[in-house]
Amino acid sequence: MLDKKDAGPPSLLNKLVSLTTIRDIELFEFSLLKTLAELLRINQISMYSLNQTDTTCWFSTYSANLAQDDNKRQFSESQEIYTTEITIPEEIRTAQLWIETTKKPYIHHQVDRYLVVYPILAVNKIEGMLTFELSHSLTEDEMLIISSLLSITHNFRSLLDESQKDKLTGLLNRQTFEENIKKISVHTLSSDMNQEQVGNEPNRRKSYAETERFCLAIVDIDDFKSINDRFGHIMGDEVLLLLSYVMKQNFRTRDLLFRFGGEEFVVIFRASNKEEAHRALERFRNKIQEYRFPQIDTVTISMGATLINEVNYLASEIIGRADQALYYAKQNGKNQLHFYENLLQNGHVVDKKEVISIDSF
Ligand code: GH3
Ligand code: MG
Ligand code: MG
Repeated sequence: MLDKKDAGPPSLLNKLVSLTTIRDIELFEFSLLKTLAELLRINQISMYSLNQTDTTCWFSTYSANLAQDDNKRQFSESQEIYTTEITIPEEIRTAQLWIETTKKPYIHHQVDRYLVVYPILAVNKIEGMLTFELSHSLTEDEMLIISSLLSITHNFRSLLDESQKDKLTGLLNRQTFEENIKKISVHTLSSDMNQEQVGNEPNRRKSYAETERFCLAIVDIDDFKSINDRFGHIMGDEVLLLLSYVMKQNFRTRDLLFRFGGEEFVVIFRASNKEEAHRALERFRNKIQEYRFPQIDTVTISMGATLINEVNYLASEIIGRADQALYYAKQNGKNQLHFYENLLQNGHVVDKKEVISIDSF
């Protein structure tokens, strides 16, 4: 229940101030869950972020009890939150349908369990659901706090989005790259350390960071200059826009898609191994090859890819590796994908770091 002392304006404002200092959307969402749980003294708050696929969603849950029981206070805030990809539960589908038709939160009461579901709104659609599991119903005041906080969240997220996105394609811009790659590196590094610790921590809950690896690929349009020359700059822009559209469809909501510069894109996505990453990228290359661009007809892309692991976590090194593979693809006929690791193994590229260290002797 809402406690007057905690929910009064000064406390709410303080929480809002600290929430809006966060510049990272994922962290911001996690903090929102935590803030609401603390403010309303609710044990379990969950968020379902819908994917474009319509069948799966990202599920994050904050549970105050879980954090205490597992003695989780020692972990960083984000680790108190458990995130995983799941099939959208039937109950959430029902709630979504209800919210879309009535424009009201969904409340389901069953014996001593109340499930309250609020929508998380994007520009024209529902981007996710926020669910509260309670043993009592929410008061009017509490509901007002939730809906106000969600409105503020929506506006703040739009502002954050604006500053992080490329104007033409809506993909992430290059300025956000360093920050994102640092985050990935922390995930990959901590996942390796966590695996070593599994024996000591049998009850540890898995987060998505512990089960997956990341792959980075640079995507460069082939002969884009000649597209501009033959069809004009505006048609060139149209190609960039349509390509980013196919890209968004090919990858998953939580994968990171950047427009890196002119006709160059970068994608960072989760994959359990190189073969899986290879399949995802080849699927994308084929989709582009088969796409019919108005007037221009076919456009092809070349890609250089590399795995992000604990050895190569410096942004410049990772990009350098993918770039070497891209260069190889361009030199060998374009419209193809190469992995740095394979090229290195076959002696088609050299490890620049090793060359430097040998040279320095
Ligand atoms: P390659 O196959 O080797 O990649 O050749 P390319 O012609 O694609 O590459 P190059 O680097 O020679 O040319 C890239 C062109 O992209 C040159 C530049 O005018 C154009 N370009 C860069 N930014 C934009 C943009 O925002 N819109 C349009 N329409 N063109 C752009
Ligand atoms: Mg190009
Ligand atoms: Mg280029």
